[in-house]
Amino acid sequence: MSDSTDVCPKCGAPLGNVTETQSGKKLQKCSKGFWNKEERRNEGCDYVKWLQVEPQELDEKCPKCGNNLILQVTRFGKKLKKCSTGGWDKEAKKATGCDFVEWITGKTEPLGVDCPTCGEKLVLFTTANGKKMEKCSTSGWDSKEKRPTGCTYIRWLKPGETPIPSKSGG
Ligand SMILES: [Zn+2]
Ligand SMILES: [Zn+2]
Ligand SMILES: [Zn+2]
Repeated sequence: MSDSTDVCPKCGAPLGNVTETQSGKKLQKCSKGFWNKEERRNEGCDYVKWLQVEPQELDEKCPKCGNNLILQVTRFGKKLKKCSTGGWDKEAKKATGCDFVEWITGKTEPLGVDCPTCGEKLVLFTTANGKKMEKCSTSGWDSKEKRPTGCTYIRWLKPGETPIPSKSGG
């Protein structure tokens, strides 16, 4: 049990429960504030306390030095794996320890389903935030031209929804 010394610095009311955003960030709102859905604005006290998300130790070894990796979430909800020995020397303004970093951008799995737009196979893409979408396997990104290439079919899945079932009978 936490000794709830957490009171709102604005109005002195106790803070509400810790909630988690879709991107994995944690926050506590003032219990005097609430979201007015009809007027789409905050009413009452608007104080929000963002909580530091503890880096999570992973069961994976650093390919550079063999120490454990940790999972970190940035302020923008992006996830990255980094070496647990890596750090930042504030005085010297330089990185210390191992500099291994791997951004988590999501994963792609093949689906045995044809694209409704072009007939090629679809793939299931899971973002780093756990959102899922079906997209066409021919779609890509031209980093020189900075534009998407191939087929542009995309369908986001609702939470809990499964992709189009495969028609092939086994
Ligand atoms: Zn308050
Ligand atoms: Zn390392
Ligand atoms: Zn397609």
